[in-house]
Amino acid sequence: MATASDRREALKDLLMDARACERCAELAATRTTVVFGAGNADAGLMFVGEAPGANEDLQGLPFVGAAGKLLETLLGEIGLSRAEVFIANVLKCRPPGNRDPRPGEIENCTPYLTRQIELVAPRVICTLGNFATKLLRGDPAGITRVHGRPEVRTIGAHTARLYPIFHPAAALYTPRTLEALREDFLGLPALLAMPAAPGAARYAEPPREPAPVVEAPSAAGVDADAEQLGLF
Ligand code: URA
Repeated sequence: MATASDRREALKDLLMDARACERCAELAATRTTVVFGAGNADAGLMFVGEAPGANEDLQGLPFVGAAGKLLETLLGEIGLSRAEVFIANVLKCRPPGNRDPRPGEIENCTPYLTRQIELVAPRVICTLGNFATKLLRGDPAGITRVHGRPEVRTIGAHTARLYPIFHPAAALYTPRTLEALREDFLGLPALLAMPAAPGAARYAEPPREPAPVVEAPSAAGVDADAEQLGLF
C-alpha cells in the first residue's frame, strides 16, 4: 500500500509529465502554463472542474478567478478551506478563447485526471458542471438532471463517492443555480462522514487528517516548483 508521501512523489512525477505534454497540438501551442491541479495531495475531497480559464492559464493554478472565489466561499460555509481539498480539471490546458473542450482533447487529457484520482484517492469526488460529470459518470446525462445525487463510481483503480454539482461559474450570474449549488454543498459534510465507498479501501482507511499543504523548502527543482505554486 503506497504511503501518502509515496503518492505525493508520484503526483510530482505526473506533474512533470503533464508540463511537457504536447498531445493536443493547439492547446500546447497556445497555453501559458499547464494547470495541473492544486491542494492537499491526501485530500478526502476532490473537485474536478472543466478547464483552466485566462487567470488560471496565467497563474498555473486552478480556480483562481471569480468562480474560484465562489468555490472558496461555499467551502468556507461548510467549514472547509481550499488548502484541505484537491482541485483539478478535466483539461489541464486552457482552450483558446475559453471554448468548450473538444472530445479528442478530453480523451488525451483523461489519463492525467485518472492518475490524479488514483493517487489522491479521495473519498468524495465533486464534479463541477457538465464536462466533469459526464466524463466521470461515463454517461451523457446533464448536470441539471443529476446534481446533488451521490453515487459510487470506480475511476481507474479507485472507487469513490461521486457527487455532481453545478459549476460555480454557472452560479455567478444565476441566483437559482447559486441556490441549488449552495444546497448541494450542504450535503457534502454528511457525504464526507460516510464510510469510504466499498472497494475504496486502497488508501482511504482510516479516515485521514488533512496533511500539511506546504512542506519544508527543498532545493530540488520539482519540489521547489510544486511548493512555490502551492501545488500540493
Ligand atoms: N473553471 C474551471 O472549470 N476550471 C478552472 O480552473 C477555472 C474555471
